[in-house]
Amino acid sequence: MYKLAVFGNPIKHSLSPKIHTSFARQTGVRVEYAKILAPIDGFSQSAYDFINQGGNGFNITVPFKINAFNLATTHTINAQTAGAVNTIKVNGNELIGENTDGIGLVNDLTKNLGIDLHDKIVLILGAGGATRGILLPLLQQNPKRIMIANRTASKAVKLAKDFAKFGKTCGFGLEKIKDDPVDIIINATSASLGGETPDITSGVVNNAVCYDLMYGQQTPFMDWAKTNNASMVFNGLGMLVEQAAAAFEFWSEKQPDTQAVIKAIKALND
Ligand code: NDP
Repeated sequence: MYKLAVFGNPIKHSLSPKIHTSFARQTGVRVEYAKILAPIDGFSQSAYDFINQGGNGFNITVPFKINAFNLATTHTINAQTAGAVNTIKVNGNELIGENTDGIGLVNDLTKNLGIDLHDKIVLILGAGGATRGILLPLLQQNPKRIMIANRTASKAVKLAKDFAKFGKTCGFGLEKIKDDPVDIIINATSASLGGETPDITSGVVNNAVCYDLMYGQQTPFMDWAKTNNASMVFNGLGMLVEQAAAAFEFWSEKQPDTQAVIKAIKALND
């Protein structure tokens, strides 16, 4: 039996227990998966309590991904470059920190949606934690270049510099986006959470694939992209399920079927 959980604050609306229970059923792995609301200043204590009660692994969501990075005793390359951890595996006294967000996005784009990133121009909007988490896995697909544009330009410039050793990157402010064509636009801002769309020129869309990391609904960015001639528009539900699948595999070494779970959650949302 794998004793697993997800830590967050808030945590009530997390889909992780549903997703992991489906994976467990499919793969025949016995899993008990709990939602744990950790106090804002008490993540480490909650995590240690869970480990002392026999926890084998856990996911970490907002706002504890950096606390989880500090809790982990060793880090995978994805966790190291992201500077944040969303999955921990307990291995005796060792707490192995991983970040599966980027793998989740790449698997959704390439395997589920059939989008090849090789030699493509990718524009990422936003330079927060999610962007830091997705950059290495995206660059490992050998895109032509990744442009990072952010409301606060300095953060985009810094991220582009930090990741330049992994591939061609550049960073600038949202207002510097031109009408030059790009292949894929990824909205990694949290603007959709407030019902907003990043303030950028609509000419850049021009037949690009547009992907909002936010999931669960038709977001303002998706509406905006559709109106401005995106070739295809997606939200981050597939990424959510794929990052969970990568975590499940990290713990159990079993690879679940994500398509069935994405379909089931979509049906619930429709
Ligand atoms: P952060 O708080 O770390 O970063 C937020 C980013 O959004 C910053 O770059 C900020 O710019 C920008 N921003 C916020 N509001 C606006 C606005 N109105 N216009 C333009 N830019 C804005 O958030 P995260 O990086 O952690 O998360 C970003 C999104 O990704 C969230 O919607 C989250 O739900 C989603 N996500 C989805 C996942 C999935 O599995 N599908 C996994 C992880 C994240 P500035 O720097 O100027 O403040």
